[in-house]
Amino acid sequence: AGSTGKPDINREKSAELYAKAKTFFPGGVNSPVRAFKSVYGTPLFIKRGDGCHLWDADDNQFVDFCCSWGPLILGHNNAKVREKVIEVMQNGMSFGAPTALENELAELIIKNNKFIEKIRFVSSGTEAVMSAIRLARGYTKRDKILKFEGCYHGHTDSLLVKAGSGLVTFGETSSAGVPKSFADETIVVALNDREAVQKAFEEFKDQIAAIIIEPVPANNGLILQEKEYLQYLREICTQNGTLLIFDEVISGFRIGFEGAAGYYQIKPDILTYGKIIGGGLPVGAYGASAEIMSNVSPDGGVYQAGTLSGNPVAMAAGIAQLSELLRMGFYRDLNNKTEEFTEAIQRFATARNYKFKVFTIGSIFWFAFTDKEAIRNADDIDASSMEKFKKLHRELLNRGVYLGPSGYEVGFISSAHTKIDLEKAKRAIFDSLEVVF
Ligand code: PLP
Repeated sequence: AGSTGKPDINREKSAELYAKAKTFFPGGVNSPVRAFKSVYGTPLFIKRGDGCHLWDADDNQFVDFCCSWGPLILGHNNAKVREKVIEVMQNGMSFGAPTALENELAELIIKNNKFIEKIRFVSSGTEAVMSAIRLARGYTKRDKILKFEGCYHGHTDSLLVKAGSGLVTFGETSSAGVPKSFADETIVVALNDREAVQKAFEEFKDQIAAIIIEPVPANNGLILQEKEYLQYLREICTQNGTLLIFDEVISGFRIGFEGAAGYYQIKPDILTYGKIIGGGLPVGAYGASAEIMSNVSPDGGVYQAGTLSGNPVAMAAGIAQLSELLRMGFYRDLNNKTEEFTEAIQRFATARNYKFKVFTIGSIFWFAFTDKEAIRNADDIDASSMEKFKKLHRELLNRGVYLGPSGYEVGFISSAHTKIDLEKAKRAIFDSLEVVF
């Protein structure tokens, strides 16, 4: 303890680019977290990525644990993905008509994932969730949705809702511009709380179309749930004619090819995917049984469409990436590597009595400034601990390690992170923790 911090990296070019970006974009960015509002310094403008490394506009080099917020499970600029994309691009970028590539990606997924029989490709996670919610409502002919405080499902109106006060509440909008009447259709309860879910079903009997949950909640820290709780949600949904939606935009193809559904062996009614499924290009998807999916247009009455849905270039990236994930031992190696990395960090922190825990599942990890053994809901997170994260983030950048710029965001490890890279990153993390504590 008591070590002093490293001097800040040069951000001259990033600062210039940021100043210019501010003249074009609100807050200078096209997605809010990129503005570095929760950490120190100017947002870094990225020039290049290769393997597990990133280079910013000032030529600072980092080991990247953000991995574009999860999609890059093979790392940056993977040769197989790049080559497949280039090959497909030679024939044109978009047709607005079916291509064989859509079949190929769908077959790859459905043949290796017992939880869905039919799928629909869209262009983002938000779109996947929005469509899944509409499908659940159309299928059940009910309007209300139950979601959990601390789960993020993209920026669709009816899910930008946070808990109000009380055990079972209609949510309050968490964004300006979301009509109160939309929020009134969304019930928000705390994670890991059976009583609240039970009460919601009593109060809104036969009105709840779906429960939506991130089965691995990874957008407000990593708030891992017990399998029994997810099982409980499965059962209460079945008993009430409510659909269970697993939002696997992060966990899908990440903690295993079958995502969290496979990890916990729990069958949701609808699944949503994004990120990894597109190999770094904009793709999302939702899937379910053939029976539920038959309600989607043009066969069914639930409308959903997209000019760029199933875009051939994006499909190509998805095909190349998912094919790699199906190789023997892919997840075993990735998950083992992550475990070794996170356990070493935990040992270091524990030996020094730091109030610091590394929570992890598969190749996802989260640094929490806490002494709690488990974090099961959003209230377990101490907001003031984020000041410590801010310091850690700065020290890490100055030592060549890039984490997402918020203490509520998780980190990802890719197959491109070698033992040597992880060793280097570990030493940087140790040194940074010594400065922070
Ligand atoms: N659902 C979950 C669980 C997510 O983590 C995200 C994004 O991080 C989304 C939905 C929204 O996806 P997108 O940003 O592609 O719209």
